[in-house]
Amino acid sequence: MLAPDVAMRIAAGEVVERPVSVVKELIENSLDAGSTKISIWVVQGGRVSLVVEDNGRGIDGEDLFLAVKSHATSKISSIEDLETIGTLGYRGEALPSLAAVSRLDIRSRTAERSSGGWIKSEGGEVRSQGDLNCKPGTRVQVEDLFFNLPARRKFLKSPVAEMRRISKLIQEYSVAYPDIAFSLFSDDRPVYSTLGSQDRESVLRNLWGEEPAIRSSQGGRGNYKVSLWWQEAPRTSRVSLMAFVNGRRIDEPTIRAAISSSEANSSGNWAVWIETPPEEVDVNVHPAKTEVLFRHGGDLFSSVRDCVLSLQEGDKKPPLSFKPQGFVKKPVQESGSLFRRIEPPPFSEKGRPPENRVSQGTTIKERPLVPEPEVSVQEERAAQVEEESVNFLGQLGSGYLIFDDRGELVIMDPHAAHERLNFERIRRTMSSSEGSQRLAISMPLPPSLQSDCEEHLEELGSVGFDFDRSGGTVSLSAIPNLIGCGSIPPFVMLRSSLAEMDGGRVCREAVWLRWATMACKASVKLTWALSSQEAMALWREMGGEGVPSTCPHGRPALIRMSADSLAAKFERS
Ligand code: ADP
Ligand code: MG
Repeated sequence: MLAPDVAMRIAAGEVVERPVSVVKELIENSLDAGSTKISIWVVQGGRVSLVVEDNGRGIDGEDLFLAVKSHATSKISSIEDLETIGTLGYRGEALPSLAAVSRLDIRSRTAERSSGGWIKSEGGEVRSQGDLNCKPGTRVQVEDLFFNLPARRKFLKSPVAEMRRISKLIQEYSVAYPDIAFSLFSDDRPVYSTLGSQDRESVLRNLWGEEPAIRSSQGGRGNYKVSLWWQEAPRTSRVSLMAFVNGRRIDEPTIRAAISSSEANSSGNWAVWIETPPEEVDVNVHPAKTEVLFRHGGDLFSSVRDCVLSLQEGDKKPPLSFKPQGFVKKPVQESGSLFRRIEPPPFSEKGRPPENRVSQGTTIKERPLVPEPEVSVQEERAAQVEEESVNFLGQLGSGYLIFDDRGELVIMDPHAAHERLNFERIRRTMSSSEGSQRLAISMPLPPSLQSDCEEHLEELGSVGFDFDRSGGTVSLSAIPNLIGCGSIPPFVMLRSSLAEMDGGRVCREAVWLRWATMACKASVKLTWALSSQEAMALWREMGGEGVPSTCPHGRPALIRMSADSLAAKFERS
């Protein structure tokens, strides 16, 4: 039979898995104690020490001993209570479990008493205890976590990785409890804090950053009331979700499924807030209490899905109808035009997009060769000559551009072409010495990005970002120079790059590709109407030296059909 202390240590593993689970248990106790201010100090990702201090109702001196003993909860007195749990903690397991696997120091005072008490334990054994002069509230210090379970200790991740989980946890709780002032410190540096006097949306704005704008919707079915916030992350597949039921943070596949069930892109940051009568949920499923069961999961799914759909409704654009444009000369758009920065490159037989010919080896009738230009005036002239030999016929209702290239039919996918051109521009600039541009004023990172950036400083540096780490927090001081690709807000660019770094080593091309796609999504959609100038500008740039006629993902941007193959189709040859 196992000795009781060993059994306790094993059981502790269910509640205390890693530093973040310690923090979770401690702040839940603080919340249950009615605190309005909770501060957390983490040293070395929690391996060395973790302190949670609150201004809650405190623990009586004589109860301190009980608090570290098994099943000493003050929150449940009967089995009926289990049915309608209103508090976050209810097992009386957290403090004893923690005590079993660390050196624990608790100091506490209730408001009714003029002095408080303290207790110290090691591996579950109370070592000393006494009285103390302190302000009302509780301070729990956990040192040397798993000092008596070396195998478990080895299992801990790097301090940065453990800290990242803790930051995420505190951020989520700060959203759940906007009226509580949280402060988080890592190795004495302040890393995140909330005022405790804001509404939930303001906390989210502070956490996620202002760009892109956060959208929200409310709804509900049956017994479920849902509020939802979404910050889209264009062109990434990463979905970051925080979900709460009656203030309890949960991992709930139903909610994730409801979000990704809509056809629109659902990537980005999500916060889902669910209110329901306590009897609708069964929280007693998992020791760490993040999994819950819903009595009417179908209603919940539909409620969340309704909200998601109403958020995404605004994205749909009416389809185009056919617009013949080839012969209409419109003035070049001066500002706001996507293509105003494009200089006409030389267009020669050699530089012509070679791939994706529908038919190879067709004989093109003799025609004057376009002179190889040397200076920009000549380039312009060359482009003019080319323009004369290429006729833009118009845009199909489906968005494709149709050109007549000296008798050949060329169909262009403007989205794919634009994506390719963005990618080429990014590749050019990033491979030059101008790959990075300093910001006039450093931008403090939104808290949701802090730990991710710290973890990937080097990789981010290799793609043009730089950071300023003075004054305790991390600020963005330089960003990649995406000349001619429109403007992607810096934090959006940063997030998308981080998404590419998830799996460890970073591939610069993959990051560029992501930017190219984002820049493109922001500017040209297949279904957007383009002016003939814009279409011609695309055509010219796609004809640039060495520009492949595929999008960077490898899909064709141009499809050619020679006069001969057209003739063959019409059975004329
Ligand atoms: P549970 O939260 O499941 O009741 P814990 O082991 O987490 O069990 O805590 C044991 C008891 O200690 C709680 O029921 C509560 O009475 C008391 N306690 C723990 N932390 C605090 C705190 N920060 N403020 C006030 N009381 C606390
Ligand atoms: Mg508890």
